[in-house]
Amino acid sequence: MISTPALVAPSAGAAFEARTVEHRDLRDDDVLIDIAFAGICHSDIHQVREEWGSAIFPMVPGHEIAGVVSAVGDGVTRYQVGDRVGVGCMVDSCGECEHCKDGEEQFCAKGAVMTYNGTGYDGEPTKGGYAQQVVVSERFAVGIPDGIELDVAAPLLCAGITVWSPLKRWGAGPGKKVAVIGLGGLGHMAVKLAAAMGAEVSVLSRTDAKKGDGEALGATHYFATGDDGVLKGLKGTFDIIINTVSADLPMQTYIGLLRPLGVIANVGLPTGNYDFAPGAVVGGSRVVAGSNIGGIPATAEMLAFCAEHGIGATVETISADEVDAAYDRVVAGDVRYRFVIDTATINA
Ligand SMILES: [Zn+2]
Ligand SMILES: [Zn+2]
Repeated sequence: MISTPALVAPSAGAAFEARTVEHRDLRDDDVLIDIAFAGICHSDIHQVREEWGSAIFPMVPGHEIAGVVSAVGDGVTRYQVGDRVGVGCMVDSCGECEHCKDGEEQFCAKGAVMTYNGTGYDGEPTKGGYAQQVVVSERFAVGIPDGIELDVAAPLLCAGITVWSPLKRWGAGPGKKVAVIGLGGLGHMAVKLAAAMGAEVSVLSRTDAKKGDGEALGATHYFATGDDGVLKGLKGTFDIIINTVSADLPMQTYIGLLRPLGVIANVGLPTGNYDFAPGAVVGGSRVVAGSNIGGIPATAEMLAFCAEHGIGATVETISADEVDAAYDRVVAGDVRYRFVIDTATINA
């Protein structure tokens, strides 16, 4: 077994404890990664607080992992010791179904194995990135190009790929008007990526508190949707709306902001249902879509794009003892725009 210091949530909602945890010895296709940084994703908080149904404790969260390969299994061909790599939301899939063969491992027919709060095909619970080391199959490690620092790379492995997928699928680029609802961890990446793709980007945020930030991140327009008449004035404007908000929102009103054939792609998971009349989509042949992370080839493509365009997440680096407080700040929307944990500060 490989022992590593980690931040462990002992039970639902309890404070983190620094403890030593164990990973399997390297299989033929495994790499051992010395983790440098792990991002804090809002979904970590939902799972640690057991807000998404029954969770597995003790839990080591973290699926925005950036580090360096420090050992390789006998059969590893893709990586060498010293390579910079990231790990996102998945650490295994069957590799044989049509979706795996298409490089869309998140849709694996057998069920992809989640990086933490999941169960591996060997029956062992998975442990994530709030740790100094992790063991994963080389198939689920993604090379991080030189030119992206590891701290700003970590959030790309979940927040980045989550918004990259719908932007690519729905054709964000020159001549397209893209709106991003919510300027948080996901939203700030959507603005950066859509702007770099050449789209004309608008931020739709409740207040004008982040106006300066939105423009600095690459948005051409910023609209405070809580102000009277603002949404009404945007009817029929956008080709693509990326909705990053997990709160309930008036879907029918937002569908109305789309041009004919436009699409609103939802990446958040509010607890309530979306409500809209069939005519809202039929009239303009509009699409209400969802999107769930992205496969390993798309993740590599996204990282190459980010390196080419000098894009990383905008991060606030914290130490291990600040994670509990950081969770409260994420829930309060008080982070610009992603916390990353310096895993060297975990003292177990
Ligand atoms: Zn995430
Ligand atoms: Zn599969």
